[in-house]
Amino acid sequence: MTASVDTQISEYYDKLLKRNAGEPEFHQAVSEVLDSLKIVLGKDPHYADYGLIERLCEPERQLIFRVPWTDDNGDIQVNRGFRVQFNSALGPYKGGLRFHPSVNLGIIKFLGFEQIFKNSLTGLPIGGGKGGSDFDPKGKSDREIMRFCQSFMTELYRHIGEYRDVPAGDIGVGGREIGYLFGQYRRLSNQHESGVLTGKGLTWGGSLVRTEATGYGLVYLTSEMMKAHNESFEGAKVIVSGSGNVAIYAAEKVQQLGGTVVAMSDSSGYVSTPNGVDLELLKDIKEVRRARISAYAAEAGNGAEYHKGGNIWEVKADVALPCATQNELDGESAKLLAANGTRYVAEGANMPSTPEAVHFFLQNDIHYAPGKAANAGGVATSALEMQQNASRDSWSFEYTDQRLHEIMSNIFKDIDKTAKDYDREGDYVAGANIAGFKKVADAMLAQGVI
Ligand code: NDP
Repeated sequence: MTASVDTQISEYYDKLLKRNAGEPEFHQAVSEVLDSLKIVLGKDPHYADYGLIERLCEPERQLIFRVPWTDDNGDIQVNRGFRVQFNSALGPYKGGLRFHPSVNLGIIKFLGFEQIFKNSLTGLPIGGGKGGSDFDPKGKSDREIMRFCQSFMTELYRHIGEYRDVPAGDIGVGGREIGYLFGQYRRLSNQHESGVLTGKGLTWGGSLVRTEATGYGLVYLTSEMMKAHNESFEGAKVIVSGSGNVAIYAAEKVQQLGGTVVAMSDSSGYVSTPNGVDLELLKDIKEVRRARISAYAAEAGNGAEYHKGGNIWEVKADVALPCATQNELDGESAKLLAANGTRYVAEGANMPSTPEAVHFFLQNDIHYAPGKAANAGGVATSALEMQQNASRDSWSFEYTDQRLHEIMSNIFKDIDKTAKDYDREGDYVAGANIAGFKKVADAMLAQGVI
């Protein structure tokens, strides 16, 4: 690496900080990618031509809109809606919608930025975008959720479309919300354009395996990483943080492969499950009753214990799969994991490990797969849903699952090889950032300065 590349990257980053003040998560996501790009620019300086790096870090379009809705008491509530259409060099913008009170422009930009590289790694023709609202679905009635979704879509619908931008779910947005959003889109546009949203119900354009895809894909990729070190999930103890869509299906696949899920969590605390998780009960509590993880401990027996406000990373395990939210695993927790003998960390959530934690993993020989590679199964299967919609077809569970499995194996091969090609063997952060970047960068260079 030459000093001039270092200086060049610092200059880009300083400019970005000034221009995007008060957006720490976005800064964190960009900083990690720029760090990996130093290695690329050292070898292939043409990737800095035509303002490529500055253009890559600036969203193509950022939409912010008012979302007024009426609650069950007849009072008017006002939320803020976002859609950041970050990069469409590889295909239509694609990325989920997040409904959570912590949502702001910086969070959506970090997620949209990550999504560019993740989508590129899938090898499928999809660009990167993300959206959402600071609406809190917790404690809201079904009718309130419906009215909110309808109001949100009343603005969003003019900005999306099969060839333009195809949103999906994320935190707080599952099958129910996608249903209400799709219904309103269909009403406003007067057409059944199934390719406009993914994560739809199976009878109206949805794909089998989409619900399971992020969790299953995470475990497929982690299995490949373990295989590369002659290990497997058989007999492994695994922490899965969170208890939402990604966490539930990661836990299911871990147990199918012979591992034991020893802890799961939500934002109030964690449950230790030394004898594994009863998935039927967990799904009933989280997906049907929409209750808290504490209810699981109360009902499951079999050694399950609830730790209110506890740190899930203190549980002894071979593998840790953070599947809740950004920055949930800090440097101190990374040290706790290492002290307890954890050898593998793979991210189901987006950016769940802080920079200190990532640094610790890389320095201490903990095999670590970053979210943009490890959780790409969700968006990959969304792209498979788009393929089925385009051809008016619906594939079997087995076939779709096999396609997902192949995509995740290929992503692991790609990031592993790229890391080796750039003399960073085993550094899957560099592997993922560089492999994801090069495809997008080549497309942007070919398409000119736009
Ligand atoms: P869900 O809303 O289904 O579940 C989120 C889970 O994370 C819940 O258990 C929630 O607990 C917990 N959580 C949320 N915020 C916090 C917090 N601040 N502290 C601790 N726990 C928290 O979301 P998903 O499972 O869909 O998403 C989880 C992660 O995976 C996100 O980072 C998302 O971006 C990422 N992801 C999701 C994909 C998908 O297909 N759904 C695809 C790729 C990535 P509580 O109920 O207490 O809030």
